[in-house]
Amino acid sequence: MGWLHNQTVFLTGGGSGLGRAIVERFVAEGANVVVLDVDEEQLQEIDADMTLSDSVVTVQGDVRSLEANERAVNTAVREFGSLDVFVGNAGVFDDNVTLPELPADDIETSFKELFGINVLGYLMGARAALPELVESEGQMVFTASQAGFNADGGGILYTPSKHAIVGIVRQLAFELAPRVRVNAVAPGYVPTDLSDAEALGGKQSIASADTFDASNHPLNIVPTPTDYTGAYVLLASPQNSRPMTGTIIQADLGRSIRGITEVSGRALEFVTADIET
Ligand code: NAD
Repeated sequence: MGWLHNQTVFLTGGGSGLGRAIVERFVAEGANVVVLDVDEEQLQEIDADMTLSDSVVTVQGDVRSLEANERAVNTAVREFGSLDVFVGNAGVFDDNVTLPELPADDIETSFKELFGINVLGYLMGARAALPELVESEGQMVFTASQAGFNADGGGILYTPSKHAIVGIVRQLAFELAPRVRVNAVAPGYVPTDLSDAEALGGKQSIASADTFDASNHPLNIVPTPTDYTGAYVLLASPQNSRPMTGTIIQADLGRSIRGITEVSGRALEFVTADIET
């Protein structure tokens, strides 16, 4: 019997990457999962996967829509009888774009799309799930990011959007205690198909596992999406994380303890030597 035996989970962005790995791990831990994702093809793949089909129901829709999120919650209650966990996870990237690079006329459209999916989408899912989670004394788990704590884990849109998730976790943990716990996982690099917002071109811009330079990170490993799933199990499991709310687990290969030492002054010593006095 797994840690999530008899738990019903509603997860967004389960069609690929981290979300897909969480779905597989949660099912292995005994959960039933409703997946909301915009990508029809990815959902059909899940529907066709015999290892998942007894425990997973897919719903196609956009996380920015309250109606789509409510449809997923209603599906969970209809198919599995209740809802215990909401995992807000669907997101898009910004191609590391800087403010000077972003054409001034494009800022508003790109901002609305990226913040719509990454921030509003989490609020819509949380709001749709709330009545059922209050009933079940359940939990919310969000995918934040190391970009929610540090610069240069994304560009001028993605980084502030992930900082906003830190605020959502803390504020909701405060608002919903003691009935509903609210926590998050802040991953570092994960090799996935994470795509830029359509307004920024929509291409996949996260380094692939074979091009990622792990030596920039203290742990010096190339992680898989599955490597991150244990933190989600911990936070979704009432037995394992009962005293935790407002907690954000930083699972970032040690990146944030190291900082960017490459430009910390050693190069400046050479520059100073060349300066004529
Ligand atoms: P991914 O693209 O593999 O998965 C994201 C999923 O979200 C996809 O299935 C996609 O179809 C879905 N999605 C996108 N927009 C949607 C919308 N409007 N409505 C419904 N579904 C939508 O990428 P991933 O890396 O697995 O991303 C999952 C989460 O992890 C995101 O919140 C991302 O910001 C976060 N994250 C990723 C990394 C990384 O390095 N890949 C690091 C830290 C955090």
